[in-house]
Amino acid sequence: MDTSSGFLESAASNPYFSAGFGLLGVGAGLAVLRQGLRRGLDVARRNLLVTLEIPSRDKSYPWFLHWISHAKVSRKNSQQLAVETTYKQHNNGSVSSTFQLVPGPGKHYFKYQGVWIQVERHRDGRMMDLSTGSPFETVTLTTLSRDREIFRHLLTEAREAALAKQEGKTVMYTSWGAEWRPFGLPRKRRPMESVVLDKGITSRIVSDVQDFISNEAWYNQRGIPYRRGYLLYGPPGSGKTSFIQALAGYLEYNICILNLSERGLTDDRLNHLISVAPERSLLLLEDIDAAFSQRAQNAKEGFHSMVTFSGLLNALDGVASSEQRVIFMTTNHIDRLDRALIRPGRVDMKVYLGDASPYQIRQMFLRFYNGESQLADRFVEALGSQCRVSAAQLQGHFVCYKKDPQAAVDHAHRLLTPEQGT
Ligand code: ADP
Repeated sequence: MDTSSGFLESAASNPYFSAGFGLLGVGAGLAVLRQGLRRGLDVARRNLLVTLEIPSRDKSYPWFLHWISHAKVSRKNSQQLAVETTYKQHNNGSVSSTFQLVPGPGKHYFKYQGVWIQVERHRDGRMMDLSTGSPFETVTLTTLSRDREIFRHLLTEAREAALAKQEGKTVMYTSWGAEWRPFGLPRKRRPMESVVLDKGITSRIVSDVQDFISNEAWYNQRGIPYRRGYLLYGPPGSGKTSFIQALAGYLEYNICILNLSERGLTDDRLNHLISVAPERSLLLLEDIDAAFSQRAQNAKEGFHSMVTFSGLLNALDGVASSEQRVIFMTTNHIDRLDRALIRPGRVDMKVYLGDASPYQIRQMFLRFYNGESQLADRFVEALGSQCRVSAAQLQGHFVCYKKDPQAAVDHAHRLLTPEQGT
């Protein structure tokens, strides 16, 4: 008998040794089984489950969060909630806030149209969105792959709910770093008839904008940048801002307010903002003259906007953009504007909105006191054709005599000596 077969024989007859071998075998078997199970689960997950990722940069992200906070869905494990606060600025300048409870970071389950869906809200602590200073987040939805269509339904429902909230409203966007964010809740549309401009002005601007909007192909075929600029100028209180708001409502557009004096705004950022403005929006640059004349003053304060005049011109020319851009600028002092800024191509239509004309005075009177045409004539007469009164002053006067058109006429002289006040 050689030594090796002798060793095997004695090992096999040793009970401790064979038990060790047995255990080793069981352990190895379990490891294989575990690995097989893991692979099997991976394959099953890949084939049976479907996931949808919604990153925080995507438009549908706020829609989804809003939807889930309101949707009638049965939920499990929704003890971890997070609060999302929205500010609303009222017309009188006061600010109020509303909040909604949304699923916090972690895993949650909910049932939608009879299907269980897992939501995982994941915050990437290391990656920051530099423009907003908030961490990147992702919401991942997982369900059985046979139910993949459910995602489409869910997102459509979330989008429709978000749009319904905006229906009949104008969303005001302001720049937030390098992106546009809604400012406050959508505002009720201002009716076009509530802004009374001199004869024919409203229809002239409206038909120009509509003509522009409906001729995209014409611009594209000729390789002309698809943008149009408007300048409304004239004294304060003549309705420049109000008209733009009413026009946006009429066209069912939103408004993006660009503040050129904003701290930290650079040429690059301005260019970027103009090129990424939300679709169907009017870009509004208010008091365009102030942005550059206040420069020295701001510089003393240290931290100021760094937009240069040529940067503004470049941004307005928007070489890179073939998207529709409707730009409105307003100023009280057209004489302070550089000619380069208001040349055709940058400003295609200039409209003067002045103090109220007798036509406007009459129309405004009738808007406040429906059907009182005789008193309206007397009111116009009382003010005389040479009076310099703004539409804003007229509005203040009529608000004072809300229910008393006769008193509005009797006290018309107060408008001529505004220091006595209405
Ligand atoms: P501007 O931008 O020319 O300074 P605003 O649009 O801010 O003037 O108007 C200030 C206020 O006066 C608003 O409350 C607005 O309702 C009223 N107002 C100004 N112009 C008109 C107008 N033409 N028709 C009706 N209301 C006007």
